[in-house]
Formats: sequence, C-alpha cells, structure tokens
Amino acid sequence: PKYVYDFTEGNKDLKDLLGGKGANLAEMTNLGLPVPPGFTITTEACRHFLTEGRLPEGLEEETSRHLSALEAKMGRRLGQADDPLLVSVRSGAKFSMPGMMETVLNIGLNDESVHGLAKQSSGNERFAWDSYRRLIQMFGKTVQGIDGELFDDALEELKAGRDDLDLEAADFQRLVETYKGIVRDQTGEDFPADPHRQMHMAVEAVFRSWNAPRAILYRRQERIPADLGTAVNVCSMVFGNCGMDSGTGVAFTRDPGTGHQGVYGDYLQNAQGEDVVAGIRNTLSLQELERIDKPVYDELMQIMATLENHYRDLCDIEFTVERGKLWMLQTRVGKRTAGAAFRIAVQLAEQGLISMDEAVTRVTGDQLAQLMFPRFAGDADAKKIAKGMNASPGAAVGKAVFSSERAVELADRGENVILVRRETNPDDLAGMIAAQGVLTSRGGKTSHAAVVARGMGKTCVCGAEELEVSTQDRSFTVPGGVVVNEGDVISIDGSTGAVYLGEVPVVDSQVVEYFEGSGDHEDELVRAVDRVMRHADGMRRLEVRANADNAEDAARARRFGAQGIGLCRTEHMFLGDRRQLVEELILAETDAERARALEALRPLQQGDFVELFREMKGLPVTIRLLDPPLHEFLPDCTDLSVKVALAGDRADEKDLKLLAAVKRLHEQNPMLGLRGVRLGLVIPGLFAMQVRAIAEAARAVEGTRAEIMIPLVAAVQELENVRDEARAILAETGVEALVGTMIEVPRAALTAGQIAEAAEFFSFGTNDLTQMTWGFSRDDVEAAFFSRYLELGVFGVSPFESLDRDGVGRLVRLAAEEGRRTRPDIKLGICGEHGGDPDSIHFCHETGLDYVSCSPFRIPVARLEAGRAAL
Ligand code: ADP
Ligand code: MG
Ligand code: MG
Repeated sequence: PKYVYDFTEGNKDLKDLLGGKGANLAEMTNLGLPVPPGFTITTEACRHFLTEGRLPEGLEEETSRHLSALEAKMGRRLGQADDPLLVSVRSGAKFSMPGMMETVLNIGLNDESVHGLAKQSSGNERFAWDSYRRLIQMFGKTVQGIDGELFDDALEELKAGRDDLDLEAADFQRLVETYKGIVRDQTGEDFPADPHRQMHMAVEAVFRSWNAPRAILYRRQERIPADLGTAVNVCSMVFGNCGMDSGTGVAFTRDPGTGHQGVYGDYLQNAQGEDVVAGIRNTLSLQELERIDKPVYDELMQIMATLENHYRDLCDIEFTVERGKLWMLQTRVGKRTAGAAFRIAVQLAEQGLISMDEAVTRVTGDQLAQLMFPRFAGDADAKKIAKGMNASPGAAVGKAVFSSERAVELADRGENVILVRRETNPDDLAGMIAAQGVLTSRGGKTSHAAVVARGMGKTCVCGAEELEVSTQDRSFTVPGGVVVNEGDVISIDGSTGAVYLGEVPVVDSQVVEYFEGSGDHEDELVRAVDRVMRHADGMRRLEVRANADNAEDAARARRFGAQGIGLCRTEHMFLGDRRQLVEELILAETDAERARALEALRPLQQGDFVELFREMKGLPVTIRLLDPPLHEFLPDCTDLSVKVALAGDRADEKDLKLLAAVKRLHEQNPMLGLRGVRLGLVIPGLFAMQVRAIAEAARAVEGTRAEIMIPLVAAVQELENVRDEARAILAETGVEALVGTMIEVPRAALTAGQIAEAAEFFSFGTNDLTQMTWGFSRDDVEAAFFSRYLELGVFGVSPFESLDRDGVGRLVRLAAEEGRRTRPDIKLGICGEHGGDPDSIHFCHETGLDYVSCSPFRIPVARLEAGRAAL
C-alpha cells in the first residue's frame, strides 16, 4: 500500500488514513491557503508498527522519496549546512487528542546547520540558537524519553528570573551545550546530528506516543477506539520566533464557550509552537494583532471566513507569522461547550449553511445532559474571591487540591475536589478526570486546561490571575489576604469564571426549567434546545418511556416528554414501614397466615398504582411483578445473629424466627437464586395479589393502560403459569391489560420464539442480560477488575454502560426477530440502564425496537438520540 501522501494529494475526508491534522492540512493546501509544504505518513503505517513492532517494509524509502520531492520544491536539503531545510514531525490521529501525543519542531539542526539557519535569517543568531535548543529539548523528551523537567530546570536556571525575551544568542548557545550534556548523561550517547536520522527517529517516536499512558487515558475517557493509530505529518518549518515581527497564535472562528459569532484567539510575538498555550508569557488578543500587523490580521480574517464557510462549522486554527508573512499550520472543526454546540447548530441552520437535519446530528445527547446540570444560585457573589475566564461551563464545588495525584487520591475516597494549578499539562489528565472542576491561574481559553476540560464536559475556570498558586505549599492566596489551603472547599462557575470560597448552593439549569415547562423561551440557549428537540421528535421512530415507580417521578417524566412508563419496580413499594408486612409474609407458616399478610399488602400496593395511573392517564404503564430475592427485605444476617446472641435466653421469639428465615433464605449467589418469576411460582398468592392490586387500581382510574411484566423468565412454561393466573384475575375484574415478560436471561432470548406464544410484549432487561451473558456480577466486578479489562482492551467501555452489540446485542436481535416471527404485533422495548445511553439507543433503533425506557432525567437525552438515530 501507499504509506505516504503529499499535502497536495489528500483531502479532509481522508481522516481515517491521514488523521485529522493531515487531512485538514491537505484540504487547506487544496483551498490555496498558505500552508508550508509537507507530507503525511498514514495511520496504516502506524498500525503496522504497533502490531508488528517494526516499520512496514519500504516505509523509510518511501518517506525519503517524499522528502527529496519536498527538498526539491523548497530548493534546500534537510539540514543542509549552509542553508538548511527544517521540518516538524507532528502526530495527528483521526480524533483530535489535544497535546496527548508528540510533536518535534526544528528537525534538521545540528552544530553546522545552526550557522546556516542564522545566515538564512540575515544573521539572527539568537533565533538560530533558540531553535536549536528547542530541537534538543523536544527531541530529548519525546524521542529519547528524557524527563522534560531536566531541560525546563536548566532553562529556568539560565533565565535567573529574566523574561525569555531578555535572553540573548549567547545564552541560547550555552543552553544548547547544557542540553547536549543532559542528553549524553541520560542516554549515554551524543545528540544525533544526522538530520535524516533525527527525522526517522522522530517518526517512530510519534507512532509510539499513541500508546503513551496519558494518550490511553484520554482515549478511554473520550471513548476513542484504542487501535486507530496516529498519522505523522512532516511539515516544512516556518518561524514565529525570529523577531517581534513574527509570532504564533491560535484562533476560533466563533467563541467556543458561548457559540457567539465573532473571531476569538490568542497571539504571542516572537514565539514558537506551544509557547502560546503553555502560558510562558501573557498572550495578546487578535484585536491587538490587528494593531501590530494589519495586513496579516486582514488576511487571517479572510482565511477564517473561508474556512467557516467551507467546513460549515466552527473551526479552530493554529497559525504562525514569519516576518510579516502568514502561515496556516492547522485547522479542524473545533471543540465547543455543550451550550455553544446547540447555539451554533441552530445559527448555522438559520443562516442556511446547514439543514435542520444536519443541525440535529451536530449535537449529542451527552451535550444535552451537560446542559441539564445545576448551576449556582444568583446570590453567590457574597463569597466571590476571584474571577478568571469562563473556559468550560458548569457549577463545581469541592475541596481544593494542588496536584493530579492528590485529586485522584481524594476522589477515590468519594470526595469532590477542584484541581487548582498554575496551568495544566497533559500529565494532569488523571487529576482532571477525577476532579469536579479545574481552576488555573494562567492561560487563556485556548490553554491546555480549557481545551481538555471543554472536551470532557468538565467545569473549568482558567487564567484567574489574582490567584498566587503554590504547588509546594498546597495553597493559593488572593489579594486581600484570603488563603485557601488543600482541603478547603471552593466553588467555581465555568459559565462566568467566578471563584467562590466555600460551598455555593446550586439551582436548576435553565434547560431543565424549559423541560419542566417553566423556562424562559426568549433565552437564546433555550430557543436553540427547543428547535433541536422539536426537530428530533419529528424525526424519531423510537418511543421514549420512563423508569419510574412513584407519582412524582412519573409526573416529571411526563413533563420531560415520556410516552409512558417502561418499568415500574414494585419492590420499592415494599420498603419502609411495609417491611413489617413483608416479614410476616415470609414468616407465615400456614396458608391462612400467608393470605392474611398478602391481604394487608394489597390495598397499599393498589394505592400506589392508583397514584401512578393518575399521572400517566392515557399512556401505557408497565408494572414489573416482584423481582428481588426475599432476603433483601429481611434484616442483615450478622446484625440479627449478634442481636440474638446478646439477648441470650431472653431473645425475642420473633427474632429467633426471623433469624431462622434469614438462614433458610441465604443464597450463595442471590442474583441467580430465588427471584423473579421463581418467587411467583414458589410463594402461592404473591403474584396474584399484585395482579389484583393492578387490576383494581386500573378499574379505579379511567384511561389506564396497564401492562403486567413478569421478570426473569427463562422458559415459556414459567410464563404460562403466571400468565394464566393473571388472565383469570383480569377476566374476573373485567380489566384489560397486556401480559408480557422481560427478556433478561440468555435462555429466554434463545427461546424467544416459544416465549412469544405466551407474551404480548418483551422488555429487554439488559442489566441482567449483560451480567448473565458475560457471567459477571454487576455489583462486584466493576471495582474488582474492570479497569484492568479496559486497559487490556477486552472492551472499550463497560458493557453495563453501553450495550455490548456483539454479544448481548446479538441475543437482543435474535429475540426480537424470533419474537416477531411468532407474534408479529409483539411490542418490544428495553428497560435496562442502556435505555438512556446514546450508543445503545442507536442500537435499539437499528434493531427495530418500539421504545426505550430510561430514568426521568434521561428522557430528553433519549428523545434527542432517538431522533439522531433516525437521521
Ligand atoms: P498538537 O497536535 O499538540 O497541536 P502540533 O503538531 O500542532 O501539535 O504542533 C505543536 C505546535 O507546533 C503547534 O502550535 C504548531 O503551530 C507548531 N508547529 C508545528 N509544525 C510547525 C511548522 N512546520 N512550523 C512552525 N510551527 C509548527
Ligand atoms: Mg496543533
Ligand atoms: Mg432484572
């Protein structure tokens, strides 16, 4: 295969092969924008390298051929002593992973060509030595695996408090020697002087960086598949670090925080590469760039307009100015906050750039879920201690911590923390994931903290400059003398940038208010959400129901747009004071005692159902008969044994009986024990009591559409028994109701054709189905070994979170098909946690289910994703 593509050969649709950066560099090249020439080595080459442990046959040769062509075009050779061509070697995967992988700039410099570079830039020695020391630093860290702090410390020592702009050629020349010494110390070899060797080593290092721990962590967090690999871009260098008429910057074609129109960005004079996001000096705004260099600014504006029209979306860009000449180094469709995503999608649709269908595909259920998080109450300002930039919205409250490790440590103990740093870097990723929010004192909206937090939907306030952060003392101070130490609670508002001392109370989001029916419809965000939701509802085929077992949840679900209840768990109705009655049922020794206990429970059950049916009038309500093992209603065995033992001879008669029952009901493996339909078959009258309560309640509330659901069925015979009993009661009371079953045991899925003879509907209980199909207990395994499994790539995401399409999904498909074959009008739904998970909802749509059921708060998310699935 062809492993190397010139920038002129690719285009934006080749992201799988060329990575996002490479594909978009090619696209910009084709658009005639000023991109420094170069070429891209494909992700396929990387995958080969990662799986085989060596580069594909012929790759070096193919790369060298493209390099020769590049040299011919540029009129100079890589590292040529008197007039060197320099290149950058840049990672770039299909999905952007900001700062997670590696890039090496200024490749081709050595003790000879550094003089050539100085000559090229009319004797700018400072620039040449600065570039050379940067090469050794980046190469040492990235390619040779040397601890970056060694280089950073040497630089700090050399600066001795000076600004980097105060450093002179001689300083950098000295630094080059120091750096070379570090390389020699750490690797036992000299820094490689041969330009070609530099390039090939850097290419391999970029390939390897795909599996750097932080890249793995980021992919897991963002659910990016682990086996895609990265492309490598070799790009001729342009220089932002050769004087004050040069510089480097990043920009967005709209505000990624709010979605508002108007360009937005940061610029840094006399700087290279990451300087602008690393917070080494305060950056300038684009408005200031206009003042500094109007022609460059005008050209940049024009290019940004071109890009936004071409991609029909918000773009972010990286650019460099080399002595008054503008160069484009990167663009991509930019990450944005959830609110901005909705606003931008609707704005673009209203401008006619995209259709409403497309607008709906451009927002996600996860983004909608983020907009439903609470925000701070309006009167919080009393405790405000600082203000930074509103980098990523949300309201976060937690204990201040000052290192990634501490954040992880406290979060593991179940504490909420806010990670406070001067600025973050990719090594802080674990802490950022663990924290409720991130607060930095340096860096703008394009800083690492801001970009990564936005990507994760994590609250972030950045660049709060009043903060004096001391990592060493684990504290920060603000003017006025407030000191916040590790463990002190702070609150940060990512929507306004405010930082508060102490815990600030939170209120509902305006989007939740909108779903509740009380929102401000003039609000731009609410209006955008409303337009998207209407369109999604119009497109979707799947119905959305709620899992709810009390009137309050049912009412909320209905306001949020639920079209019925897909799962009402009756065991929740057996708790509290009613436990007593359940105990009596379990302890009953005669039929009469049992009947009495059941008769006491029935009116209570009936009352609950009446309330539920009232709320859901006209809509279907699926009620699941008792499911959990009975011991769940009894006291804990150890507690009770202790109580009985302590009481000795004076032990309560009832406690003794209870203890005997607890021991009798004890199961090694309760999830596979006496529960669900098995209870119905073993305890006479239990299910009959529940069905009667349902029937009487249905009779009492006009417009009720009850559906009776039998859990844990594995064989049609089990279901037939319970169904016949239920049918008899329904006939007797003159109530119409569907009788159906859950499909949650693999055998039920495998014999769905038979089971459908006795079931009017199937509801896939994918929690149990997942645990029984994989053979692992949901309550135990997640803590025990899931992280190892994720690491090993056994699965990319927990199968309890997102439906395992290959295994569990196959059972669902099979059961749906066979069920329909037996009973063409059988109703099919899903009521496991997966009913609210975006990817699983798409699966349900593709499988032809009739509805998904999820918790009330997930209803809007499910509606949106069901709409997106249909597009
Ligand atoms: P990332 O994926 O982390 O953004 P990049 O490959 O974009 O990494 O490179 C990091 C920085 O180096 C960017 O700011 C970019 O502008 C700069 N850079 C990369 N290649 C060149 C080049 N050929 N000339 C000048 N600057 C470059
Ligand atoms: Mg970049
Ligand atoms: Mg179940």
